[in-house]
Amino acid sequence: MSSSTSVVHQLPEKELQALGLQSKQNTHYQLSAKELTQQAISRGEGELNDTGALVIKTGEFTGRSPKDKFIVKDEITKESVHWNDFNIPISEKYFDQLYDKLIAHLNKNEYWVRDCYACADPDFRLNIRVINENPWSNLFAYNMFLRPNAEEIESFQPEWHILQAPSFKADPAIDGTRQHNFAIVSFKRKTILIGGTGYTGEMKKGIFTILNYLLPHDKKVLSMHCSANIGKEGDTAIFFGLSGTGKTTLSADPARQLIGDDEHGWNDDTVFNFEGGCYAKTIDLSQEKEPEIFNSIRPGALVENTTFFAGSNKIDFSSKEITENTRVSYPLSYISNALEPSIGKIPKNIFFLTADAYGILPPISKLTAGQAMYQFISGYTAKVAGTEAGVTEPKSTFSACFGAPFLPLHPGAYAAMLGEKMKMHNVQIWMINTGWSGGAYGVGQRMKIAYTRAMITAALEGKLNNAEYEAHPIFGMMMPKECPGVPAEVLNPRNTWLDKDLYDKKAKDLASEFIKNFEKYASGVTDETLAAAPQI
Ligand code: ATP
Ligand code: MN
Repeated sequence: MSSSTSVVHQLPEKELQALGLQSKQNTHYQLSAKELTQQAISRGEGELNDTGALVIKTGEFTGRSPKDKFIVKDEITKESVHWNDFNIPISEKYFDQLYDKLIAHLNKNEYWVRDCYACADPDFRLNIRVINENPWSNLFAYNMFLRPNAEEIESFQPEWHILQAPSFKADPAIDGTRQHNFAIVSFKRKTILIGGTGYTGEMKKGIFTILNYLLPHDKKVLSMHCSANIGKEGDTAIFFGLSGTGKTTLSADPARQLIGDDEHGWNDDTVFNFEGGCYAKTIDLSQEKEPEIFNSIRPGALVENTTFFAGSNKIDFSSKEITENTRVSYPLSYISNALEPSIGKIPKNIFFLTADAYGILPPISKLTAGQAMYQFISGYTAKVAGTEAGVTEPKSTFSACFGAPFLPLHPGAYAAMLGEKMKMHNVQIWMINTGWSGGAYGVGQRMKIAYTRAMITAALEGKLNNAEYEAHPIFGMMMPKECPGVPAEVLNPRNTWLDKDLYDKKAKDLASEFIKNFEKYASGVTDETLAAAPQI
């Protein structure tokens, strides 16, 4: 467990040879976080900051590249995958070709092998062997996936493999890719190939993608792009939301135990984490606003794409010099009150997080079952700068199930499962706008984190149960008129706009965007869901 103890594990030589890897002196197997950190530094790939975390640069890519993510179209996936802009097909021929090239590339130099797994619930455990061409990528795998104990390592049988080499570049003309970088999933070969990009998030979202296929499709478990925590009474809360909406920030709550910050499964009677670590944004990070995350930046943590104040090793969290998507990964145990194993109960409350850059949606509201389905299928938010290549300012988007880029099945499959579970367990659904208030991006301000936290706490503690509510005139959700710890005037967004007519107009514009986006789903949903559409 501790990063200072280093156990020497027997290299799985035969298995690596079967992959085509020539087992050599310079194959590094199952190194500790401390060893990986030291190697990264001695190779000139990173530095320690003043609190002892490893700080590296991921290179050309500092975010995911959804247009370069492919799924091999074969007998398994041909009919079952919902082919779209995020699930882009590639033929087996190209996978095989790139596999051979990637292996040949790894054989040229040192490589780092790590055995780990996904899914905290033992019934769904998925063993993964990750092979990287540099030590810091391997440290990311150590931090983010679950860590088998010494005994489990002895008998470890990998089911899936990730082969990752940032310096390997595909030749699009020959290899069937769009450009030199790629992430390719093959369900038949149970392998993810990543090349041309050093952005570590591709590894975690690669595994998330396969789980979003395997769990609902083969195991009847709902997979979700959400964070989760649990209160003293054993009450689980989950927080759905696209990138930058606050899953990681808001789930780290000193009053509740953290289950996980990004990916979970909902089985019959549990909610379980897929991962063993967190991957938090660090832009404008402060000890005051996000103490748990701030204090996780210590030995073993991997910080990406930040810069130091001149002449020091102190991270300047406000700097966007390399990217706005600066990140840190660390094991779950770095959060002071993480639940272990990360398995909670069925949620009592579900929060849909949105970062509305138009400043239209209320900061907290209660949804009916129909509204909840409508909002889940819509998946509205603004993409904030950084996490994806090419996004430099907030841009409105609809992403079904708050996670379209990672969902290989039709969104209807996930929505139907959530709808059934919500009703069966009588879950309360809330919508939280962590985005703009008092006007759109550029005019208004982002909602204060302290207010958002106070609203969530009030909801969780039942303090909004007897509050007076008013319906949003266009979107219909119920807005509380008062909430402890929050100035009443921010609760109805219209009150925060100087120009009320402009608010009404912009609210109608946003409603039109919702309605237009929903057209493609309208024929496949219930009347109750359809009736929850905004009314212009
Ligand atoms: P990803 O899926 O990319 O990991 P995420 O949903 O986990 O995204 P966070 O990492 O929690 O998103 O990012 C939220 C960001 O927004 C943080 O940088 C946080 O400081 C900032 N922020 C500003 N205002 C708020 C607010 N009111 N609530 C939550 N986060 C806020
Ligand atoms: Mn997150």
